[in-house]
Amino acid sequence: MFNSDTISRFQQLETPFYYYDINLLKQTLKACYDASSKYNFHVHYAMKANFNPKVLEAVQSFGFGADSVSGNEVKAAIENGFAHDKVVFAGVGKSDKEINYALDTEIFCFNVESVQELTIINELAKAKGKTARVAIRINPNVDAKTHHFITTGLEENKFGVDTWQLPNVVEALNACTNLEFIGIHFHIGSQITDMEVFKNLCEKVNVLDKWFEEQGFDIKVLNVGGGLGVDYYNPDTNSIPDFEAYFKVFADNLTVKAGQEVHFELGRALVAQCATLISRVLYVKNGLKKNFLILDAGMTELIRPMLYQAYHQIDNISKGLDHGPSTMDHGLEMTKYDVVGPICESTDCFRKDVVLPESFRGDLVAIRTAGAYGEVMVSNYNLRDRVQSVYPE
Ligand SMILES: *Cc1c(COP(=O)(O)O)cnc(C)c1O
Repeated sequence: MFNSDTISRFQQLETPFYYYDINLLKQTLKACYDASSKYNFHVHYAMKANFNPKVLEAVQSFGFGADSVSGNEVKAAIENGFAHDKVVFAGVGKSDKEINYALDTEIFCFNVESVQELTIINELAKAKGKTARVAIRINPNVDAKTHHFITTGLEENKFGVDTWQLPNVVEALNACTNLEFIGIHFHIGSQITDMEVFKNLCEKVNVLDKWFEEQGFDIKVLNVGGGLGVDYYNPDTNSIPDFEAYFKVFADNLTVKAGQEVHFELGRALVAQCATLISRVLYVKNGLKKNFLILDAGMTELIRPMLYQAYHQIDNISKGLDHGPSTMDHGLEMTKYDVVGPICESTDCFRKDVVLPESFRGDLVAIRTAGAYGEVMVSNYNLRDRVQSVYPE
């Protein structure tokens, strides 16, 4: 994936760093834009996936809105050029300070996750003499068929309002004078690759939209959240998700009434493939049972494998790709390594038993598909330096 000029450039740089392929990012954004515009669907970028300013700049340039999950994300969205009326604010625990900030900023909508939150937003809006637009995040009890650590739409999850509680929501909405109820919101999980799951979601949305209509509400926005997955196993051959197929599921299965808008909140699918974590082999440690490749990057730079048992392709880019015919052709000796970081935690391991060409101190190792939930989760545990970001020249 990297040509020899790029690799020579990497060799001169201090590691570890995130390398952003802005070109691939733009191609991905364009594919999403084209596929969603076909149906007049609106996309808000879930900025928690990656709020690197260069990424935000590219996303914003396609006219997407921003989905934020904290007051500071609302602030970052505005500061990075997103229009205030294209910013939505979700999250199960919004503080009063954050709600007040979002009210002052006149965002498009609060995605509200409990009945109590509705009454609090109403009180805070009233105190300012404002009306807050709200959507109710409903927990549709749909199995996202993804890793259980990143599923959000089951009754055992903390997110959203369960359907049995909706009569209480209606009661609260009727009592709250400073709220404008505009939509219903769903987000059932992340890294979803089975399109059947989204079809099941559509069926729930249709039923709930009808239910609210029967209660006398006019739902303007159907917000179906995000969650579209990417191919962590084939970052080179499948670098852009199939947005056409994804949006078509909603076009085919969602009942959209005249005047209703359909909103999406994609994060991972837009940014995961555009970044790679580049690090260097510090040491090779051969044990009796295991060989360890000790990198200068660890869970402080990319925590997904340790936090969610996530898979990332790992390539020794000084030697060619980690597996497949090309490396065999070069006659390189293959070895199994546990690829680990330098952090003082046993869980600080990117992957066990990775088959790589025999590797040496100083080799560059690329951890692929690291653009989503990567750089945003860096920490300075062990007082580590802040990881750098590098862009094409
Ligand atoms: C995280 C999140 C998203 C984005 O999820 P992806 O899997 O990255 O697409 C969308 N909506 C809400 C409310 C979220 O919390």
